[in-house]
Amino acid sequence: MKQFEYSRPSTAQAAVQSLSKKPAGQFLAGGTNLIDLMKMQVVAPERLIDLGGLPLNEVKAASGGLQIGALVTNAEAAEHPLVLRNYPLLSKAILAGASPQLRNMATTGGNLLQRTRCPYFFDITMPCNKRRPGSGCAALKGYNRMHAIFGASDKCIAVNPGDMSVALAAMNAQVEVTGPKGTRSIPIKDFHRLPGDHPELDTTLLPEELITAVTLPPLSASYKTSYLKIRDRTSYAFALVSAAVMLDLDGGRIRDVRIAMGGVAHKPWCLPGVETALRGRTASEAVFADAAAQMLQGAKAYEHNKFKLKLAPNTLTLALMQAAGLA
Ligand code: SF4
Repeated sequence: MKQFEYSRPSTAQAAVQSLSKKPAGQFLAGGTNLIDLMKMQVVAPERLIDLGGLPLNEVKAASGGLQIGALVTNAEAAEHPLVLRNYPLLSKAILAGASPQLRNMATTGGNLLQRTRCPYFFDITMPCNKRRPGSGCAALKGYNRMHAIFGASDKCIAVNPGDMSVALAAMNAQVEVTGPKGTRSIPIKDFHRLPGDHPELDTTLLPEELITAVTLPPLSASYKTSYLKIRDRTSYAFALVSAAVMLDLDGGRIRDVRIAMGGVAHKPWCLPGVETALRGRTASEAVFADAAAQMLQGAKAYEHNKFKLKLAPNTLTLALMQAAGLA
């Protein structure tokens, strides 16, 4: 690991100002992803700005919903009584990720910023446009079993590895940020970006912006939820495919449904067309499977991930069944 300077500001404003100074710095929160990347020389910031002294570790009621500070750990968020009572989907998704030790360190803000686990991104001897723009994409013709089936480009076919962000997308959460030009809220669905010509950019955060919190809108208690994660082993593994589902049933009729999927794209993948196809229909396995099949419009698989073309709609169908109490 290369040597780096270290600072620990006590306010968000000081942290943002610190990031604009030379040499080039990077924010450090739980460090569960960044420190690994530094050890493997995937990234080499010359300064680390430790956010551990900032007062961003509170979970509180806000605007009828809930605000989770950026430094609230994943374990704290998943176990918070208000999350368990009003946002169980978030708790389920967080607990499906990583390990207890990692969840004790990883933070809400850091979780949103974790980098892809594409193996070529971590291997500094291989071409990777995300790590070194213009060097090529080794995964296109390489081993691409974990990679995207939606929204990829010829520059990058990586997926976002998150679980929490998939649940947040289904819930229409907002990401609160502060930067040199003030504060703003970014809808979670616009926070992560598709790779396009600039796969080195994972999010729409501007340079020097800092995540301060995630805001969850008020949600009707009538929503039943499911987070279904399909992976190679049942713990401490990234999703091959995951589905976050919120289902509001009126008797057997689908009053509302919200869906986001993980493991299939460079961002949580929302399915408004499938949601529209489901609203007003009567919940059943056949109806769910029929609507889930529509998600494949525009899908594109690569040599080793063709199985996702079956796994994704099957996962969504089962998640919908679970939320409806039919599985
Ligand atoms: Fe790099 Fe993306 Fe290609 Fe993986 S898929 S090698 S992260 S450019």
